[in-house]
Amino acid sequence: MELAGKRVLVVGLGKSGLAAARFLKERGARVTVSDARPATLIAELPGLLDQGIMVEAGSHGLLTFRRQDLIVVSPGVPMSTPELKQVRAMGMHIIGELELGAQFLQGEVVGITGSNGKTTTTTLMGEIFKAAGRPTLVGGNIGKPVTELVGESTPEAWSVLEVSSFQLETVESFRPRIAMVLNITPDHLDRHGNFENYAAAKARITEFQTAEDFLILNAEDKPTQMVAAKTKAQIYWFSPRRQVKQGAFVHGETIFFTPSEGAKPEPVMPVAEIPLAGAHNVENVLAAVCAARLAGVASETIRAAVAAFKAVEHRLEFVREHNGVRYYNDSKATNVDATVKAVEAFAGRIYLILGGKDKDSDYAVMGPLLRERVKMVITIGSAAEKIEHQLAGVVKIERAETMDRAVALAHEAAVAGDTVLLAPACASFDQFQNYEHRGHAFKSLVLALE
Ligand code: ADP
Repeated sequence: MELAGKRVLVVGLGKSGLAAARFLKERGARVTVSDARPATLIAELPGLLDQGIMVEAGSHGLLTFRRQDLIVVSPGVPMSTPELKQVRAMGMHIIGELELGAQFLQGEVVGITGSNGKTTTTTLMGEIFKAAGRPTLVGGNIGKPVTELVGESTPEAWSVLEVSSFQLETVESFRPRIAMVLNITPDHLDRHGNFENYAAAKARITEFQTAEDFLILNAEDKPTQMVAAKTKAQIYWFSPRRQVKQGAFVHGETIFFTPSEGAKPEPVMPVAEIPLAGAHNVENVLAAVCAARLAGVASETIRAAVAAFKAVEHRLEFVREHNGVRYYNDSKATNVDATVKAVEAFAGRIYLILGGKDKDSDYAVMGPLLRERVKMVITIGSAAEKIEHQLAGVVKIERAETMDRAVALAHEAAVAGDTVLLAPACASFDQFQNYEHRGHAFKSLVLALE
């Protein structure tokens, strides 16, 4: 794509919007950014103006949108934004930051999507490639936006990209050499409208793949299996339960990889060497093993990299043992499925902190599991009432409102052998800046317990 001289509007000034604006400017585009926040709240404003980037703050003007040759949307901005809907209906060229960056990225791409496990699997893939001595870039939805990786990319590089459903809504040529859909469970229904739209957005990861490419899917996840019908790529599967035709699976105590249908499965590593808690992490490792073998990494290298891997912060992260009670921070459990996986990772006797900002989720589905394993649910945030209503009579529930009170309540009630788990099944924005902020708040309260 030729950018020099083009009028380009970047919508939304988050991390990737900013990166896109700078990227476009460096390539000679005439860049405007539009953000609904007032100018006084845009900390980067002076820097942008200095670089010759025009800024429209406070609201989006339709005229600004119409005047462009190209519109680049940040993943944080819904495509249902009225101005975007209008100019899209007029046939204007609209892409996301991921699409923009990917068009310029050199080397091979591994694209990882799914409702849960993206960051863990992306980070692990990065570690495996580094252990194999490959020039490796890691980013996308985590860390550096793709437009920021472009400058570091070379024809030999492997870019491991975490890709969200929002980013996939605005692709028009994104073609990963290896794509992965880890799982599709209800999340972000507040933005995608319904589960079908959300699943369809995830399936776009394979839309532009060809027969030379690979698509890795979860053999145990029905909505993910549906993606198989939409691809031209070679399909590989992963399963923690049964042998797959081609792909990675667990048999007995060992992870195997079958390189092609009918070939003999190769042992890769013992499951026991995975240093992460929870059965869901075995799935993440299987997906990574499959991708790494397809990319030609030797099994011994994969085994060593997996064994040396540490849980990513805020993902079932062990915080501390205090008076025999173990505290875990899973602040990134921002949807019901992630919370289910976290609860399943422990045998029982759990004090579970739930709540935050609701995303139109159904908490009642957790009922049977919570009844079996959870001693008490402690609620925080604006979703508290809905959670209490949906889980009433299933499990003991106490309202804490705030994180301080939640940790204090758990601390008072828990006895040696219990687990206190922050896995809130909600977004954090009602009380915190983001899930990291929430996780840090939890950790510092736990570390301060006497
Ligand atoms: P994402 O980037 O997709 O949000 P993370 O690796 O950050 O994924 O994990 C998000 C949450 O989901 C964490 O609470 C984590 O413990 C949980 N999780 C991780 N992998 C899986 C999986 N394969 N299935 C379900 N939940 C998972």
